Order: sequence, then C-alpha cells, then structure tokens
Amino acid sequence: MQNDPQPTDLGDVRVANRAVVLRHVRVHAPCSRADIAARTGLNKATVSSLVGELIERRLVRETGLTENRIGRPATMLVLDGEPYAALGLQVGADELAAVAVDLGGNRLLTWRRAFAAPAATPAETVRALAALARRATARVAGEGRAVLGLTVGVPGLVDAAGCVPLSPALGWRDVPLADQLRAALRDPDFTVAVDNEANLAALAEQRHGAQAGATDLVHLTGGAGIRAGAIVGGRLLRGSRGFAGEIGHLCLDPTGPACACGRSGCLEALVGLPAVVRRLLPDTAEDGPVTDFLPELDRLKALAGQDDPTVRAGLAETGRHLGHAVAVLADLLNPEAVLVGGHLATLGPWLLPADQAELAAGALAPEAGGCRLEASTLGGTAAALGGATAALATVESGRLPVR
Ligand SMILES: [Zn+2]
Repeated sequence: MQNDPQPTDLGDVRVANRAVVLRHVRVHAPCSRADIAARTGLNKATVSSLVGELIERRLVRETGLTENRIGRPATMLVLDGEPYAALGLQVGADELAAVAVDLGGNRLLTWRRAFAAPAATPAETVRALAALARRATARVAGEGRAVLGLTVGVPGLVDAAGCVPLSPALGWRDVPLADQLRAALRDPDFTVAVDNEANLAALAEQRHGAQAGATDLVHLTGGAGIRAGAIVGGRLLRGSRGFAGEIGHLCLDPTGPACACGRSGCLEALVGLPAVVRRLLPDTAEDGPVTDFLPELDRLKALAGQDDPTVRAGLAETGRHLGHAVAVLADLLNPEAVLVGGHLATLGPWLLPADQAELAAGALAPEAGGCRLEASTLGGTAAALGGATAALATVESGRLPVR
C-alpha cells in the first residue's frame, strides 16, 4: 500500500473535482447528482459531498423539479449564484465601461462613461476606474451580492502581474495598473486583475458571442488599434510573457502609409479607424486632430448606405487588407471563426464581403480551413463583458468564494 502513488495535496484534488461539478452544472443544468456522477466519472459519494458544499455556499441550488427515472425521482440542480457578481471594466479611447454578471454569466449592469483616457494621466485613469468600480460594487452589493472579482481590459501589452509595460493607444509605459487599482480600492476582498482588451473580448466571444462554445476562435478589435485575442484549444493564447496577439503591426504593404509605430503599411495603418477616416473623409482633419471618431463613423455608414462610390470602393479596399491579415491568422491558428469588433463590425456590411473573398483566396487551406469571418455581435462593451467572465474564473476553477 505504501508504495501506491498518493496525491500530493488532497485539497487540490477537491478543488479540481469541484470545478468539474460546477462546469457540468453550468453546461448541463438542470441535472441530477446521478447525472453528474455518470457523466464526469466521479463517484456518487464524492459528487454528493461536493454538491452539498456548493449548495451551502449558494453556488448551486436544488430546483423543485425532479426527473422521474426508474426507481426514486432525482432532484435537479442548477447554478445559483444569486449572492454573487463578477465585474469587468474596460478602458477605451473615449470612454470607460463597466459590466457586471452573475455566476451564470447573465448581465446585471452595463455602464458606459465618457472619459478620454489618452488625454489623461495614468493616475487620473486609475481614479476614474476606481470610482466606476466602487459605484458598480455598491450597486451589486445593494442587491445583496458579493463581488467575486474584477478584471480590467486595456488596449496594450499586459504582463502576468497586471502591469502595462506599453500602451501606445493610452500613451502609457510601465503602469502597474492592477497594483494601483487595488490600492485605490483599498485592498478589496476580491481579486483585481488586468488583461489585454482583445484577450477579454475573445473570452466574451467564447462564452456569449455568436460562436459561443467554440474551442478555437479569434476576436479582432476594431478602433484605433487592431489586436487579436485568440482562444486555441479552449484556452487563451498568451505567449511566454503574455504579449501574444499584437497583429496590428503586421506589415501588409512596405510602401503603404506611415504607422504610429514608426514603420509603414502595418495593418493598423491600413484598417485602423483613424486610418480609414483619414483616407475616406480627408476633410475631417481640417479642424485639427480628431479624438472622437464616432461622428465620422456615422458619416461613413451613411455614405456607404447611399452607395457613395468613393466610400464603397475605399471600404472594399479596407476589407481586402483586413482579409489579408485574417488569412494569416487562419493559416497560423486554423480557428473556427474570426469575429471582428468596433468599427470593423459597424462597417461590416461593406467591409466583410471583400474581406471574405480575400480570406478565401489568401489562406492556404481549402475554404480557409473552415474559418468563418463575421462581425462580432457583442457591441462596444465586449472587453468589459470578457473581464466579468474572467473574474468568474476563480470560482469556476473550483475555489470557493471568500465568505
Ligand atoms: Zn505599425
């Protein structure tokens, strides 16, 4: 007996098994304890013990429903999560957003607040984020919910410690955002994390988007910067330091327009929103630098809708550049789908046909390896929704919330 391998830490096994049970209930609810045991391979006594603990912490509840099988009826279980909420925030070019979800991923609140982060100092942005987080926390606490965690999405590189070594979009260098936000919130009893906006948008796609449940997908952010958040084999692709996915500076045309990074013809310099506006609405720069592109985006939509030939041709060209980049992603990662967000989704009706043709022509695999290319359905708060989704991960990984 003493030579049998022993688990090094029985607590770890319990945490892992708890995650298995929670996941099963999330995906298959309503389900019975017997279903969970049969489908997960855990024995019935273990399932009963874990379910008892999850009910006690109000992560799972019994419904009044029973399933009549041969023998005695089985009580059905669903996620409870009424006492909990998870928060996601995002820092955009001209606004901050907050989303809260319950344990089942249902939205509890969606707030957007005008804030020009690129014109603010990092300290001012941290203060504004903390104020928004406090209001959101107070709102969900007022509904009797405890916050499980908070994740902020930023446009830039983010390391594992939640520090932002570089964000050209925000003008940041080496901003320890997670630490500063935690301090501004006076060390709350929930986790405070930071991630790249594209990674969080990809998580939101995997849970809530049109391709929810896909194990391989990419979300491409639209806006000033173009970033790829990639789910590969069911997990976020992060790379060795967490910086994977910066496709915006893939050079598509060395003779193309100058890019903010100092090189020429990058994807961002061809299909980023400022680049598209500069090319198709050259008169907008006459009044000085543009920071809020929403009126221009509306104008582009209106002109494209009226079949303006210059705008239609310009958007088709933009779509071809985008398709070129998506073909690289399709060859590299073979995703089931690439979902485009921001202005790429707004202008999707005019961009995507050329984009899809270029993808089909440019990828090596037949039919681009089955890669579908679609406009994201998640709207402007995808990263915040993904942040809230990420904040649920601690509980979903089997760790019990702090009482
Ligand atoms: Zn560049």
